[in-house]
Amino acid sequence: MSRGELPTFLRLREAGGYCRLRSTIPPQSPSAWATLITGRDPGGHGICDFVERVPQTYELVNSIARVAPPRHMLPLGGWRLPLSQSSATLQRSGRAFWDLLTEAGVPCDVYRVPSNFPPAEGGARQLAGLGVPDLRGTLGSPSYYTDGPAPQSEQVTVQSVQVVDGRARARLLGGRNSLREGRPDLYIDVDVYLDRGSRVGKIAIQGREVLLRQGEWSGWVSVRFTMMPHVKAAAGIVRFYMKEIAPQLKLYATPVHFDPMDPVLPIDAPRGFARELAERYGPFHTLGLPEDTTALDAGILSDQEYLHQSAGCLDESRRMWESALNEFARGTLFHYFGTTDRTQHMFWRTFDPQHPGYDAPGARDARSAVEDCYRLGDELAREALEAADERTTVIVLSDHGFAPMYRKVHLNSWLARNGYLAMGEPGGSGQLPDSADWSRTTAFGIGLNAIYLNQQGREGRGIVAPGDRDAVLRRLVAELQALRDPETGQRVLAGVYRTDQVYRERIPMRTPDLILGYAAGYRCSVSSATGWVQDQVIEANTGKWSGDHCIDVAAVPGIVFSNRRIEPEVAGLADITATALQEFRVRPDDEMLGRPIWRG
Ligand SMILES: [Zn+2]
Repeated sequence: MSRGELPTFLRLREAGGYCRLRSTIPPQSPSAWATLITGRDPGGHGICDFVERVPQTYELVNSIARVAPPRHMLPLGGWRLPLSQSSATLQRSGRAFWDLLTEAGVPCDVYRVPSNFPPAEGGARQLAGLGVPDLRGTLGSPSYYTDGPAPQSEQVTVQSVQVVDGRARARLLGGRNSLREGRPDLYIDVDVYLDRGSRVGKIAIQGREVLLRQGEWSGWVSVRFTMMPHVKAAAGIVRFYMKEIAPQLKLYATPVHFDPMDPVLPIDAPRGFARELAERYGPFHTLGLPEDTTALDAGILSDQEYLHQSAGCLDESRRMWESALNEFARGTLFHYFGTTDRTQHMFWRTFDPQHPGYDAPGARDARSAVEDCYRLGDELAREALEAADERTTVIVLSDHGFAPMYRKVHLNSWLARNGYLAMGEPGGSGQLPDSADWSRTTAFGIGLNAIYLNQQGREGRGIVAPGDRDAVLRRLVAELQALRDPETGQRVLAGVYRTDQVYRERIPMRTPDLILGYAAGYRCSVSSATGWVQDQVIEANTGKWSGDHCIDVAAVPGIVFSNRRIEPEVAGLADITATALQEFRVRPDDEMLGRPIWRG
């Protein structure tokens, strides 16, 4: 801003339309946006981390939505005939502010806001964002086909193929077939024909042919995974990238997104809105986290290839945003852009020489990526202001800031080493829930910030009696606060929060007992977040995922800009909810915690 490169933000700040934004505890996007949507804290809306455990079984599940196969099946000669539909249920409690607005006759359009899948039909037009899975039910599983050395990756489906006479056959996976006994994998054959001399390839898939030169991306390709011939198919869209044809075949495919023309689960409200958008703009990404951070982290996409893929997603979002702005007459238009978040996660390492993942070539070629996304924010804000007349309020905000992630903490390993989490074999490693000895476990971690006690009457094999809860928590909090990194001597946690002290209410079976606020530079590892216990407790983060915000709330404030003067110096996310309602003189419901950021 001081270099004059963010003129819109500078202008707004100087006119008084600026304040810091306090994120939620924890400052994770699913929790933070759910607070902005409902005006409740995470204890009230229930999304306290990106994943949680099922209390009875300790099974790891997505916190935003629960997806279930058809409840009633009729077995019939190897098939299971569905007598009901597959369903997805939004796990967010509390009413969305746009429901209150539409009830009062205020039109609302809501694009890609996290923690809103599946969107409830009510009145607002909505397209879901973070929380929408791919066709395999994951947060995003890309594929990679090669006849060369196969990289090791847990999240990328790597297939070794043989090229014979310029021809190879591969499979594109599409999730499990719940209509078949044993739920086998659904897949489609992908035939690849290569002219290695001229470096041109042809992909043949379901009767369609896609020609790609080396280094070229395809557009969206529609695919259908047949679940039961002539009866049921799952519709998806996928993009291919011909990374290399010679000397080796290196072919990448994005995760298979729901087809907006015919989504497998509801991603829109009213139903059919996504189809309308696709008819107007062509096919577009629907996966909640569409930038393929997984493929970049696995070394399958390079920095530039990742940025190209990410820019494609941004273009699709921007087309809809710009049309929505042009057509906006009255009401509320709410659009979320995730590029700024993902770019900082992946490219912090390019401008911070202290980072263990810092590499000089990366720094040279991609160091503007992070600054570019601030410029993008400034441009989007300018577009909104240009579309607004003097009676229209514009609010631009980010739900959290950013910090480096130098070191990763295997929290469950620490819990195991310190006697809170017992493994089936003493000193053993493995993944929860199966590898744990629950009869001797008092506390465990699930998600990037949450700790649960193994509580009697709540967890399936709970051992902590309600009367002992407070003592166990006090000891755990004290030991975590004292935890230091043996390599640097620094304190690992800047804050340890008891949810019975920081949340106004707690959903009894869901709310974790503690939320950990890591000091800047530290963050829980993904392996610990998904329940793994291993030898090490803290290690250097040399990965591409190098910046983060799932740490202590005080270390990662967000920002709010507006074309109106903002009164407080710091606002909370629930204050934005209250402000959005006050604009139309709509009363918040009794559970909403915030206060407007200006007098009405
Ligand atoms: Zn993020």
